[in-house]
Amino acid sequence: MTSSYSLMIHGGAGALDNVRDQAIAVRYLESIRLVLEFGREILARGGTAVEAVESCASELEDNPLFNAGCGSVLNEDGQVEMDAGIMDGRDLAAGAVAGVSGIANPVQLARLIMDGSEHVLLCGEGARRYAEYCGVPITPDDYFRTPERIAQLEQAKVHRAIMLDHDESGEAQKYGTIGAVARDLNGNLAAATSTGGIVNKRLGRIGDSCIIGAGVYADNASGAISTTGYGEDFIRTALAKMAGDLIEYRGLDANGAVEFALKHFRRKIGGRGGLICIDHQGQCASAMTTKKMIHGWIEHGGASHCQF
Ligand code: ASP
Repeated sequence: MTSSYSLMIHGGAGALDNVRDQAIAVRYLESIRLVLEFGREILARGGTAVEAVESCASELEDNPLFNAGCGSVLNEDGQVEMDAGIMDGRDLAAGAVAGVSGIANPVQLARLIMDGSEHVLLCGEGARRYAEYCGVPITPDDYFRTPERIAQLEQAKVHRAIMLDHDESGEAQKYGTIGAVARDLNGNLAAATSTGGIVNKRLGRIGDSCIIGAGVYADNASGAISTTGYGEDFIRTALAKMAGDLIEYRGLDANGAVEFALKHFRRKIGGRGGLICIDHQGQCASAMTTKKMIHGWIEHGGASHCQF
């Protein structure tokens, strides 16, 4: 066993300037802090990194403040289509779902795919059928279609915009995609990302959160990474895998890797978003090209820190 664990979570990237209401900002920070402490308990008692990221991501999916699970944003048809991915750094096992509806915790379905199927990624009806096969209950649409999300979609349609949950150009931007990365007491790494995607997206659009190497990645030899922002930008640059490769093949630490990866992301395509990373030694780092990213971390079992 190593002597310490590390944990990072994020709740979405964007401008967030228009979260003017201090009470809402406090709710975000408090939610992040609570989930960090919840994850700490798992890791401190010897739970695995996979267990920690799945559990933390599930907590965030259950919180309507965030754009995942019950707080997912709506597509152009006013429907919820969620993406999620999880990866185990011990053996590069991975599971993911794309464009799934009726599933309260897509990250748990991703884990079931990782552990129990011969596949990595299932989409739409097929993912739902696998959920039923595994005994996962199907959750009615009403659970997901909150009044805030309906208003946010209407506003996006007025502006004819496809936007990030926290986009600079919108008004009702109070929620964000979620992710968790962890290193457990045995030095094993894992990552998970879950999202409703972007507001007013086309039916069938799939983002980066479920794409291994784009929105989620973990390898014990390098690091655990979760991203948030415009999924298309992360898919085009395979940014999560790139950050990992910088650690493994360039010898960078988490800080060096996220800085380098973000420079590349900005320079190549003007990429919009951010990422969190824990390297194989447990160092925590984050970087973003957006103005802000809601995130928090516990490095080497120390105090929890949250940033908005
Ligand atoms: N990356 C997510 C997507 O494009 C959105 C987000 O991070 O807020 O689906």
